[in-house]
Amino acid sequence: MTRHLHVTTPDTIEEDVAAEPSLRPQRLAEFIGQNKVREALSIAIEAAKQRREPLDHLLFHGPPGLGKTTLAALMAREMGVNIKTTSGPVLEKPADLVGILTNQREGDILFIDEIHRLRPVIEEFLYPAMEDWQVEVRLSDGPKANTMTMKIERFTLVGATTRFGLLTAPMRARFGIVQRLNFYPADELATILARSADILGVTTSKEGAEELAKRSRGTPRVANRLLRRVRDYAQVRADGHIDQEVAAAALRMLDVDEYGLDEMDARVLKTLIEKFEGGPVGVNSLAVAMGEDATTLEEVYEPFLIMEGYLMRTPQGRVATPRAFRRFGYTLPEQKGPQGSLFVEE
Ligand code: ADP
Repeated sequence: MTRHLHVTTPDTIEEDVAAEPSLRPQRLAEFIGQNKVREALSIAIEAAKQRREPLDHLLFHGPPGLGKTTLAALMAREMGVNIKTTSGPVLEKPADLVGILTNQREGDILFIDEIHRLRPVIEEFLYPAMEDWQVEVRLSDGPKANTMTMKIERFTLVGATTRFGLLTAPMRARFGIVQRLNFYPADELATILARSADILGVTTSKEGAEELAKRSRGTPRVANRLLRRVRDYAQVRADGHIDQEVAAAALRMLDVDEYGLDEMDARVLKTLIEKFEGGPVGVNSLAVAMGEDATTLEEVYEPFLIMEGYLMRTPQGRVATPRAFRRFGYTLPEQKGPQGSLFVEE
């Protein structure tokens, strides 16, 4: 069971760490889809270059696996600057950043993933760095600690977050450019897959790529991972060519269903329906009932289920839609009368 549990999770899993770098686009022009974002970024790059200034601080937000880290790296490449990468949860104290910030050259990029998880002391330390290009360095510990203000070069902070709403207002206000990434439509995912297939040395038919695309939860990371799995199957069973039939057979073997829902999605919806009569129920109760972490549920699973119309977030809590009931063959709950009913029939 658990072996296949994560095939379609949008979060990074172990096998991605080694496999993803080779599939990352190297130029902004190779980055497929998200046209509005790309256009805004090209303009920002042009403008900064013309003015010979560093890019404005830049924030990417949206569900995991849609290209935030990739875009951060592309920005550095297009600007011809260095990039240092870290993430909110690993930064414990300001000293963890002093070295990076004081060694950066003008225009270099500091990329902070999961920036909504920065500790308050780190945020406080970053504000003057981002605004006045200076940092407070502690020279000794203890209550009478000596501090010294140091000038740093003008740099660009690129932040990424799956939870825009959890970012503090002062942090949000310090980004000059804020871009939201959205789930990819199937045709764009098919284009991404064709490019990845080329790099991985397999061939796909148009229908084969489409079959993978429509089961990828709108997420390039999932599309690339499915491609890698299907490629193994294709090599062993089909001479390395992925047509629609091979893709479908391999995906069946991996338990990926035709809508891209995986076991975890199914568990979310089935728990909601079986244990809570379809809701409404608070996200924490739902998570406890599943033995899962509420944050993972909210950041990783819900966005896709909401987009696909299986789940709704209401002020009273999470609600399974009629579509979710039908998908798993449940009958819709009995109407509770006009007041109690969630789905009023005309
Ligand atoms: P995030 O930081 O949003 O979680 P990543 O930037 O790590 O996502 O992207 C995950 C994977 O998907 C990477 O291997 C990347 O190459 C690929 N990818 C994401 N967006 C695109 C895109 N628009 N075109 C091509 N590949 C993409």
